[in-house]
Amino acid sequence: MSFDLTVRLIEAVGATAAGTTVMVPLDGPDEVRTAASWADATGNTVLMVHPDPVEIYRGRIADPIDALSPERRPGHRLWIYTNFHCNLACDYCCVESSPTARRRIIEIDEFAAIIGEAIAADVAELYLTGGEPFMLIDLDERLRVATAARPTTVLTNAMQWHGERRRRLDALPRDNLTFQISLDSATADLHDRHRGAGSFAKAIEGIGVATELGFRIRVAATLGPDAGTTEQELERFFDDLALEPDQRVIRRVARQGSANAGLAVSRASLIPEVCVTADGVWWHPVAAIDPTMKVVDNWAPLRTTIDTIRDEYRTHRIANDVLASSFPCA
Ligand code: SF4
Repeated sequence: MSFDLTVRLIEAVGATAAGTTVMVPLDGPDEVRTAASWADATGNTVLMVHPDPVEIYRGRIADPIDALSPERRPGHRLWIYTNFHCNLACDYCCVESSPTARRRIIEIDEFAAIIGEAIAADVAELYLTGGEPFMLIDLDERLRVATAARPTTVLTNAMQWHGERRRRLDALPRDNLTFQISLDSATADLHDRHRGAGSFAKAIEGIGVATELGFRIRVAATLGPDAGTTEQELERFFDDLALEPDQRVIRRVARQGSANAGLAVSRASLIPEVCVTADGVWWHPVAAIDPTMKVVDNWAPLRTTIDTIRDEYRTHRIANDVLASSFPCA
């Protein structure tokens, strides 16, 4: 075991109160397993592996779910794929969306029933995604149901807000509604390379429309192996847009769907974020077409499925089969 890493672990965890967590920077992925062995031998717990640091909980955890912050606990958030078709066909899309993808639309009656199940299951936040949700001309009807129930975020490429869709957009309530807009770089080159020519300019235009109409926005970037220094440039760009820290998301691409490179995910390694599609309930929205990540075929009763997912998560953590990681879709 690296002496330097051991010293860092002892200093960091030693200065941490029992029952709380500390982030310990790592010098490369090889140190993850070493940190886990050290934690196990010293009566502590590796809680989660973030892109760089490892998060260590001081002490042993009786219930792995209690150790997660409330917003990370399975069932706090519910993801809903409203549809799977999209105006774009990004080359890393985790669910292979495109203009010709099978649509798998959740119609308004079924959507309202899912929201009812979410309320009964004490879900605290709703996240709508696709495909491009605004491909549905009547998305606004779903958004009224969702925002009346819970704070709601919609993931969008912000390219559909013209004509009737813009009129319906402007008529939406501003409370309880956030648009998370995809923007992968501070200039057009990288964004358009993966999302299609002209898509950067339209995303910028969409950010302007949402802001001008008084909606709360978050901007989210997905970075692939060719991102280079994009992350630093994006942070400066986000500064120029006056985005607060909780209005910025930057994550690496996951090896799912159309992406043939990126972070590998599995039920054993990924902290679940319960996700409903027209085809069933899935472990996490980043893997909503991966058969190994499907939990059940039907979304009702949702509370029972959330309990099933929590139990499986506990089993993985207690077995310590693979270290847990989070994948921030929002
Ligand atoms: S990544 Fe988003 S914008 Fe791109 S094809 Fe997939 S759903 Fe559409």
